[in-house]
Amino acid sequence: MTGFSYRDGALCADNLPVAEIAATVGTPFYCYSATALRRAYTDFAGAFDGLDAEICYAVKANSNQAVIALFAGLGAGADVVSEGELRRALAAGVPAEKIVYSGVGKSRGEMASALDLECGQFNIESEPELAALANVAAGMGKTARAVFRVNPDVDADTHHKISTGRAGDKFGIEFDRIANVYARANALNGINACGLAVHIGSQLTRLDPFREAFQKIAGLVRELRAEGHVLDRLDLGGGLGIVYRDEVPPVPTDYADIVRDVFGDMDVALMLEPGRRLVGEAGILVTEIVYMKESGGRSFAVVDAAMNDLIRPTLYEAWHDIDPVAEPDGDARSPVDIVGPVCETGDIFAVQRDMPPLQSGYLLAIRSAGAYGAVMSSTYNSRLLIPEVMVNGDHSAVIRPRQDYDTLIGLDTVPDWIGND
Ligand SMILES: *Cc1c(COP(=O)(O)O)cnc(C)c1O
Repeated sequence: MTGFSYRDGALCADNLPVAEIAATVGTPFYCYSATALRRAYTDFAGAFDGLDAEICYAVKANSNQAVIALFAGLGAGADVVSEGELRRALAAGVPAEKIVYSGVGKSRGEMASALDLECGQFNIESEPELAALANVAAGMGKTARAVFRVNPDVDADTHHKISTGRAGDKFGIEFDRIANVYARANALNGINACGLAVHIGSQLTRLDPFREAFQKIAGLVRELRAEGHVLDRLDLGGGLGIVYRDEVPPVPTDYADIVRDVFGDMDVALMLEPGRRLVGEAGILVTEIVYMKESGGRSFAVVDAAMNDLIRPTLYEAWHDIDPVAEPDGDARSPVDIVGPVCETGDIFAVQRDMPPLQSGYLLAIRSAGAYGAVMSSTYNSRLLIPEVMVNGDHSAVIRPRQDYDTLIGLDTVPDWIGND
């Protein structure tokens, strides 16, 4: 799946040596392979051939305009969780009717904008949210297409911070309340209730939790239809995992087979919302070793990327494989802590990682950084947002330039009553 491999001892993104890109844009930077992005999309979408299924790319995984536009060009819709993402998806060419608006806390202002922009579907996560949407839509003389996100009370068996489908998680409407809410929605002006949604978590590496959640949804569909409700859309969320270390995530065809088994004869339009799976392995974070140091009996490689550029190791204790950009020639390995320059003990990419001999000036590639990488970055420690580069075969393009200090500092305003004159 990855578009990154060694050729003649040099790590390449598609056909371009990563070191050459680094020489042009400087480090640190994100590098994406368009080939790997396309392959991930076609593998995923192809698995659903023959089903009435729309792939709505979960924009929050990587919301660069070039990434969204690439998927839009392959026919993808989008799953968005804020007005900003909605506007990004539209700006990248995703048709409004193929955009699904998810999220637990849509504000009335966001709802009004989304209705104005003809957003295709709202996924409702609570009764107060339903009331708000009905009110906003009716006030505008519009009807919002709504589906209801069910909390199926299924444990996705993933990191607790990215598990979203257990009773007690903040997401969705309690399973036992759905029938009630659906009946209420049907009576409201401004709402066209047309189905259900579910999303139980991210980075799932087993299929059983999907099957369990999907079966619960299918049962609910039968129950609601028996009560006379119309359900013609089911949004099955995202969550399919990728390889960070030694996981063996399910292949899309096996995942799709479950969908086919459970929903194949239900006569509904299906929506899938993959995020991580489409972009995660298609990106790396390239960083340069600034210093090697020994301290407290340990070796440290201090690199020029930090937790503000890629927060997953700090936030989730996530593992990312890290490889030298120049292929190591021997088998010697020794443990090194790979750390960033930010003033936080948690600013660590890897602890006691077995690495080949390293030196300052060496470039490292932090793998599987295409999802929840650049999108979660910040300017903490007044570090500039780093560039993103997309490689397509023999060509590369900067799809976001490095921020500059004037822009960063210029975001702030000093009121005149501070009085430093
Ligand atoms: C985050 C999210 C997704 C995408 O999850 P991945 O694990 O990246 O596939 C899909 N749907 C909803 C509602 C989400 O919140």
